[in-house]
Amino acid sequence: MSLKNAFKKSSYVSLGDENDINKTPEVPEGIMKKCNYCKSAIFTEDVKNNYNICPKCGGHFRIHARTRIEMLTDIDSFEEWDKDISYKNPLEYSGYEDKIKVMQEKTKLTEAVVTGKAKINGEDTAIGVMDSRFIMASMGWAVGEKITRLFEKALEEKLPVILVCASGGARMQEGITSLMQMAKTSAAIKRFSDNGGLYISLLTNPTTGGVTASFAMLGDIILAEPDALIGFAGPRVIEQTIGQKLPKGFQKSEFLLEHGFIDRIVKRKEMKQVLSDLLKVHGCERNICTEVCEDNEHICELKSMNPWSRVEKSRAKDRPVGTFYIESLFDKFIEMHGDRYFGDDPAIVGGVAMFHGCPVTVIAEEKGSTTKDNIKRNFGMPSPEGYRKALRLMKQAEKFKRPVICFVDTPGAFCGLEAEERGQGEAIASNLYEMSGLKVPVVSIVIGEGGSGGALAMAVADEVWMLENSIYSILSPEGFASILWKDSKRAKEAAELMRLTAADLKAAGIIEDIIPEPEHLTTETFSCVKNLLDNKLKKFITTYIYMDADEIVQRRYDRFRVM
Ligand SMILES: [Zn+2]
Repeated sequence: MSLKNAFKKSSYVSLGDENDINKTPEVPEGIMKKCNYCKSAIFTEDVKNNYNICPKCGGHFRIHARTRIEMLTDIDSFEEWDKDISYKNPLEYSGYEDKIKVMQEKTKLTEAVVTGKAKINGEDTAIGVMDSRFIMASMGWAVGEKITRLFEKALEEKLPVILVCASGGARMQEGITSLMQMAKTSAAIKRFSDNGGLYISLLTNPTTGGVTASFAMLGDIILAEPDALIGFAGPRVIEQTIGQKLPKGFQKSEFLLEHGFIDRIVKRKEMKQVLSDLLKVHGCERNICTEVCEDNEHICELKSMNPWSRVEKSRAKDRPVGTFYIESLFDKFIEMHGDRYFGDDPAIVGGVAMFHGCPVTVIAEEKGSTTKDNIKRNFGMPSPEGYRKALRLMKQAEKFKRPVICFVDTPGAFCGLEAEERGQGEAIASNLYEMSGLKVPVVSIVIGEGGSGGALAMAVADEVWMLENSIYSILSPEGFASILWKDSKRAKEAAELMRLTAADLKAAGIIEDIIPEPEHLTTETFSCVKNLLDNKLKKFITTYIYMDADEIVQRRYDRFRVM
């Protein structure tokens, strides 16, 4: 091999005029080639051994459908479906047939998506993978038909669906037939979902146009590869329309995560594991180990204390925060992000986890434990997108029949300009409304401050428990004193009469139980709280999990009806 050839620039795939998206370089052929992202000379072998990622700059090269299937599924487990479905030419578009033939020869595929079933770390799943070499994986009749059949067959065989998306959008050559595929695939997903099917969508570079505006964005869980272009309109079209340059990172995966549209960004080398973890959590039976952990070493007892001291304790800087409870009490927590409307609120953390063999949905208001983290988490004051994320996860829990466990710890919902613009009141109201009818068990545990509507939006539950030194009230004592006495300095006095302690609230029938705390509750002295909560949660779940859904909802209705 001559040196001249060794550094030959690898070719881009022609996108055609109809596609307005970034070019995704393929892995260069030959021993050594130039990376199309960073222009470095790289060994092809190194790229192949590195999940088709440039070892110099981390640029993600495109992956052929069959290679992707090999990367994600267990050896020899893939069984292809609908292999022979090929294109239609409703416009009798001249040259289309020839174009398809060239693509078929070049890619050894009949169309731009490969579908079938396979195992991922032993878990059965239906899977579809798009291949952007094939007319930019644009969606014409054949792609729409194969994806629709994928969901229909998965429903029949009771399999989850994983769809690896990459597309320039609808295929122009087939005219409105292509547009209709968006509706057809969406309808198939709706039917699949209404029957309880799990759909995980994985977005890769690039996912745009009619594919983004249909099946790509309809996953129960939406994952993305790093730095992938994901959007409806292509960047060039947007720039031409608005007459300005787009900011760096616009429409990239990280941008979408920040704006609440995807659950997680997952690295290529971790993708198979993440997918199989998600399949496992969704596929396992709701069995729970009921063995009660005896712990005679760590026993706490309720203590008497004045209300203001409890207020101070509830706000203590070293008090364990929501994420610490999640880490301590659950296994295999997989965090999900975003409200699918506007953003991802770090003041609320939620996702799926295992609790002694039972899949659960866990959601926590999170204050953060360092100053930097406090700021990032807005001191535990959620924005509307936080409540909307929580509700989205609760609805998902309902679909997959998982109990919901909420940890409440907020001074109150965020009072700010942006929060009002985005409907803070509407977001809280929707949570109260929807939680009242949720067909799965819900338990809320107040672990610190239970401030106002911001706390209640996470506490329309079957049972509400409070840590001994947590508080739950209509407003902070400062706010209460300020409104009634025009003097926020009289907060201590307000705390005395507001009946905001766990003992007061239990006596009033507002909460079911109190969790005793050690003298000074920190992450170091947490074990007695942990063991108590662990046992109580086991008992709660075993009591409610087999209860009829209508009965759960009726009991929750009655619980608030008497207040
Ligand atoms: Zn590179």
